[in-house]
Amino acid sequence: MPALMLGGRADDESAAGRRPGLAYAQAMPAARATPPIVLVVEDEVDARARIRGELERRYGGDYRVTCEGSALAALAKLERWRSAAEPVALVLADQWMPELTGEEFLARAKALFPDAKRGLLVSFGAWGDRRTADAMLRAMAAGRMDYYVLKPWRRADEFFHRTVTEFLHEWERSSAASPQEVALICERRSPRAHQLRDLLARNGVPYVAYDNASPEGRRRLAEAGQAGASDPVVVLMGGGVLVDPTNAELADAYGVSTTLEGRSHFDVVVVGAGPAGLAAAVYASSEGLDTLVVERESIGGQAGSSSLIRNYLGFARGISGAELAQRAYQQAWIFGARFLHAREVTGLQPGTGRHVLTLSDGSEASAATVVVATGISYRRLGIPGLDAFLGTSVFYGASVSEARAHAGQEVYVVGGGNSAGQAAIHLSRYAGRVTMLVRRASLVETMSSYLIDAIDAAGNIDVRPNAELTGCSGDGELETITVRDGVSGPIETVPAAALFIQIGAEPYTAWLPPQIRRDAWGYLLTGRDLPPGSWPLERPPLMLETSLPGVFAVGDAREGSTKRVASAVGEGSVVIEQVHQLLDMAHAASRAARRRASSTALGSP
Ligand SMILES: Cc1cc2nc3c(=O)[nH]c(=O)nc-3n(C[C@H](O)[C@H](O)[C@H](O)COP(=O)(O)OP(=O)(O)OC[C@H]3O[C@@H](n4cnc5c(N)ncnc54)[C@H](O)[C@@H]3O)c2cc1C
Repeated sequence: MPALMLGGRADDESAAGRRPGLAYAQAMPAARATPPIVLVVEDEVDARARIRGELERRYGGDYRVTCEGSALAALAKLERWRSAAEPVALVLADQWMPELTGEEFLARAKALFPDAKRGLLVSFGAWGDRRTADAMLRAMAAGRMDYYVLKPWRRADEFFHRTVTEFLHEWERSSAASPQEVALICERRSPRAHQLRDLLARNGVPYVAYDNASPEGRRRLAEAGQAGASDPVVVLMGGGVLVDPTNAELADAYGVSTTLEGRSHFDVVVVGAGPAGLAAAVYASSEGLDTLVVERESIGGQAGSSSLIRNYLGFARGISGAELAQRAYQQAWIFGARFLHAREVTGLQPGTGRHVLTLSDGSEASAATVVVATGISYRRLGIPGLDAFLGTSVFYGASVSEARAHAGQEVYVVGGGNSAGQAAIHLSRYAGRVTMLVRRASLVETMSSYLIDAIDAAGNIDVRPNAELTGCSGDGELETITVRDGVSGPIETVPAAALFIQIGAEPYTAWLPPQIRRDAWGYLLTGRDLPPGSWPLERPPLMLETSLPGVFAVGDAREGSTKRVASAVGEGSVVIEQVHQLLDMAHAASRAARRRASSTALGSP
């Protein structure tokens, strides 16, 4: 089911001329010519027979199930399949095999089929076995496996099947080998092509991209009646063709709402659909508030660009940011929240009782309460090709949780501020060597002295001053970077397994009126952090309320917030309680005013 289409409201869908699933069903692609492969490596005969039986009975119609007793024979098969460009969806391997451990085998399988899902097969008793548990934790942290899989111990073992089905679902969503809902044909390296790919990926839309100069790209262009087009062309599975679409045109064509469609008054408008805004939308709509969410780019915000969020409660094997965002989006939609996609809120006009928001298409929406959940954007380095490694070996901001995966390796940190220093120290616990690339002559002006001392003491952190990152290369993952010393100094190529970029972040708050107080960096001040004299009413501000009554701030855009998915979700959830308090106060005040008015009228001669 198309992710964004599912989120459209019934009336939105008919307005857009589509109903969910209709175009999808009409255009249902035929079964694949080559069924994807599920490979199992298990040296123990009975266990192998049980796993084969379960997999063949359940998936045999759509997948080619292949079971091997020898890891080396299985590797030879993987190499053959790679040469023949056959799709491998899932590889499952037992940990303790005579020729190779499962962990080693899965690492080699990853090099051959980076898209394939990889599971380590373990028996029920494995929890008590420290050696197996250590191997699992090591392989997970290093990204050699996606998760463990408990071997089936009886027929129709649904626990086993749940893990396998989830693996196959994830592979299907991400694999270039599976039929996709959108085809993008473009000059692969053009900035607009990158934006469109990013937009589709972060919105969880399964798509495939072709270079317009490739034979397949040219064939697709001709099929779409756009032979020779140099602008990006988008072909939808339902049959639509868009040439160089804007984000709003693409969202429209995909069947989601980009206009207010006659509605303009809401109880609450949530600005931004990152984790904080989505949480606010779920709580507000589930508690009966008439809710509008406006998102200018992608559902999920920054989290949508995270390939795997590993520290969100309840997702032991991690969840992709796009998947988490889609689930939250659908949850808010099911409770009745209205979404406006590909539209930016450009202004807020304060009012008494209601505030008016201006949208990028010129329309206006008014609301008794506004939740600002606009987040921040980590400053990016404009190095060509760098974004291709995002999430695998290049990380912005909060991704130091990746540190264990780079144990013993040569890693680089770009930046000279406190966050870069903290990242370097954290990484030095695991990495072989950490090198900090600092543009200034030293760290003294930009970093706290306790961090400089800790860097000196670490023993495996080098600080390279006057250094600028100029390029990068690698096959799937980062392998080398180029660094220039000084403004016009020599350029050196050095091996690098990972790059952690910490060059600061900016909140998206410039569009707000001056009554809303921020700190020197633009982060929104709320509740007790408001400076004396900035709060205009007798009642104290609520905890997440800004200096403009009725306007709340949550998530990364709020001063002092913890820049994490869980805390953004937490703030987005609790703010709705404060929205209720404020609406209750407003209702009580208007009831009192009405009573006063009617008693004055009754008392008048
Ligand atoms: C690459 C990466 C990996 C990360 N990995 C993790 C992780 O593993 N675990 C973890 O806990 N945290 C992680 N984080 C941090 C986490 O994603 C953020 O803390 C979280 O997304 C903040 O949520 P938010 O809703 O406050 O803001 P955001 O996620 O920034 O969302 C704000 C949204 O508001 C929209 N917006 C902005 N201005 C407007 C406007 N004027 N009108 C309409 N819409 C607007 C933006 O387009 C955006 O979608 C990661 C961040 C990045 C960048």
